[in-house]
Amino acid sequence: MTRKYLIAGNWKLNAGGPNGVELAGAVAQATREVAPNVELVVAPPFTALAAVAHELEEKRVEVAGQNLYPKDSGAFTGEISAPMLLEAGCRWVILGHSERRQLFGETDALVHDKVAAAMRAGLCPIACIGETLEEREANRTLEVVFRQLDAFSAELNKRPGYGVIAYEPVWAIGTGKVATPEQAQEVHAAIRKRLNDLNPTLAQGTRILYGGSVKADNASVLLACPDIDGALVGGASLDAEGFAKIAKAAPR
Ligand code: PEP
Repeated sequence: MTRKYLIAGNWKLNAGGPNGVELAGAVAQATREVAPNVELVVAPPFTALAAVAHELEEKRVEVAGQNLYPKDSGAFTGEISAPMLLEAGCRWVILGHSERRQLFGETDALVHDKVAAAMRAGLCPIACIGETLEEREANRTLEVVFRQLDAFSAELNKRPGYGVIAYEPVWAIGTGKVATPEQAQEVHAAIRKRLNDLNPTLAQGTRILYGGSVKADNASVLLACPDIDGALVGGASLDAEGFAKIAKAAPR
């Protein structure tokens, strides 16, 4: 099964309002020549979603939320549901990002519920997993990554090939310390093998993105690895040209 590459930009708490619309327009412009085997997604802050989705109508760049709450509606002040993201023009949602896990106390169980809610609503989850530096140094990388993965993999298996996994070593996020292609490929291959134990079709169809300080100058060696199917890009996604260069680094 051939998997298309997916390059997703996580804008985090940046580029809201008019800045977001301007950035989205620039991304659409800069990525026009990206090869057809690459899908493109940007994840603006909630308040910019509808305007960015409007700006990207008829363009190849799609829109993601950065989070959701697993309930569809009700007394959950400050939260946004999967149906609301769909209404705002999203087709995707980033879930379980390490910043959500570390700063906002998200547990594996909550990430499971969020993945399930996204899949139920028809929103494609980009579910993030990854170890901290301390865990890597204690040789616990796969134990941690498998625990996080096992929490939601049965949900992904309900529609094999639909949901996406992002392996993001926490020590590489926003630090400029990128995993070597060998380090990344080793974990990606282990994740795919774990999925294979559940269902070979799931393993073959699921895109596993790498995330952690991906930039235009390191993207091609990472994307050339057999089990790396794209990138989740933070800081470098705020520069339209740099984001486009990452997308153009995907092998054809
Ligand atoms: C991220 O936020 O998912 C990320 C990978 O950030 P950065 O590219 O800035 O390391």
